[in-house]
Amino acid sequence: MNNFNQTQTQLRSGFKELIQDMYKEYCPCAYQRFRTYIQWDQPVCFLDQEVLFSVFKEHLQKIDDTSYMCKCGTIYLEDWEQYNMYLWVLNVTIKKNGNYLEKGAKIKPVTPVFLGFQGFAGSFDELKKTYIQTDTATVLEYLKK
Ligand SMILES: [Zn+2]
Repeated sequence: MNNFNQTQTQLRSGFKELIQDMYKEYCPCAYQRFRTYIQWDQPVCFLDQEVLFSVFKEHLQKIDDTSYMCKCGTIYLEDWEQYNMYLWVLNVTIKKNGNYLEKGAKIKPVTPVFLGFQGFAGSFDELKKTYIQTDTATVLEYLKK
C-alpha cells in the first residue's frame, strides 16, 4: 500500500465512524458544516469531499443515475466532470432539503482539510484563503460539531 492509499484509508474509516454516529441521533444533513463540506462546485478536485461522499452514499437511497436521498428526504445530486485525461472532479449539490432539525455548529471562515485538492495549481491560491491543510483528527473534530 502506498502512502496516499494509507492516508485515504485512515480518512475513510474516520468518516465512516462520523457518519454512523450522526445517524444514531439524526442524520448528517442536520449539520451545516457537513452540508457545506459535502457540496462542491469547482473545477478542481476536493479529495476529502470525494471520500466523504463515497462513504455517505452507502447510507443513501439511489433515486436515479445522479440523485441520492437520505432518510430525512434530502436529495443530493452527484455530477462527475472531466478535468483532464487523468482526473475527474466530483461536484455535489443539494437538490432538495429534507426534514431535518438544524443541529450543528456554525461554519468557520477557514475549513480544515486533510488530503486537499487536485487539479490546476494556479487555482489553489484562491482556495488557500478558505481551506487549511491539517490532520484527520482536526477534520473529524470540525465536522462532528
Ligand atoms: Zn438526512
